[in-house]
Amino acid sequence: MQISRPARCYAARWGAFLFLLMSSARPVPAALPATEVDKNQAENAAIRREWDSWNHPFKPFHIIGNVYYVGPAGISSFLIVTPAGNILLDTGFESTVPGICQSITNLGFRVPDVKIILNTHAHLDHAGGDALMKRLTAAKIFMSAADASLLADGGMSDFTPYSREMVHFRPTHADQLLRDGDVVSLGGVRLVCHLTPGHTKGCTTWTMEVNDHGRIVHVLFFGSTSLLPGVRLLNNPRYPQIVTDYQATFCKLKTLPCDVFLAPHAGFFDLAGKAARLERGETPNPFIDPSGYQNFIRQSEQKFLDQWHQEQAGAPAMPPPSVH
Ligand SMILES: [Zn+2]
Repeated sequence: MQISRPARCYAARWGAFLFLLMSSARPVPAALPATEVDKNQAENAAIRREWDSWNHPFKPFHIIGNVYYVGPAGISSFLIVTPAGNILLDTGFESTVPGICQSITNLGFRVPDVKIILNTHAHLDHAGGDALMKRLTAAKIFMSAADASLLADGGMSDFTPYSREMVHFRPTHADQLLRDGDVVSLGGVRLVCHLTPGHTKGCTTWTMEVNDHGRIVHVLFFGSTSLLPGVRLLNNPRYPQIVTDYQATFCKLKTLPCDVFLAPHAGFFDLAGKAARLERGETPNPFIDPSGYQNFIRQSEQKFLDQWHQEQAGAPAMPPPSVH
């Protein structure tokens, strides 16, 4: 994160992260001069285009073991199939849910068989569809206590410095709260909850084992360690322990077992590239990528350290998005 980057570059550079904080129906403040209104409208249009691209359909497919991809092109959703019903990990925006349901059906599974909904974290682009999916399936939501609070108020208590209008999504309630190390079990499948706070206060990374042609393979669903624009690491009254949380999270992430690296944003783990290689019949399974995971964590930690050091040196905070 380059906090001194000019604002003009900022929207494009961080567009991916801005989207998870945007509403498509944000009013333009009347007091803004005409040039600012034009600029904001143009930025909003760009955001809507990128939002749409995240929801672009992606052909559902079998990843490995009992894990399937059922999300759109930009934001992930994973189906974990068990004899006792299925687990859905992340629901995207509320507008993503119909596509997820279609993908589940196209793979030959039934939407009502989703018994448990899990999330990487409770931002609107990953848990914004929880309320609707819960209504469609009667599934139970299992979530960390910190993110369950965020889910319950639809993002209104988020610590990011954006307007509540930007972070809001349809709220719902978690049915069971999870602590670090808890195991979610269904039909013989065990998903281990690893609290990896920082991106949200209850951000969660999940691990499980699958059988890949007779070999036990460790699957990791990464929670996220992205630092959103405008979030301060030093003297952050909305999140005083953010630095120690991030430090502990990076330490933990480096030690978790990971053969298969999966993540909430498709770009984090090269969904499209690996899916194409898998479809061509490449072996071993291209999603088995432990070094890709470790490299990603190292790079993310470096961005965190860069911002931390810049703040310690007195650099001004990158402002929140100027989009209205
Ligand atoms: Zn997020």
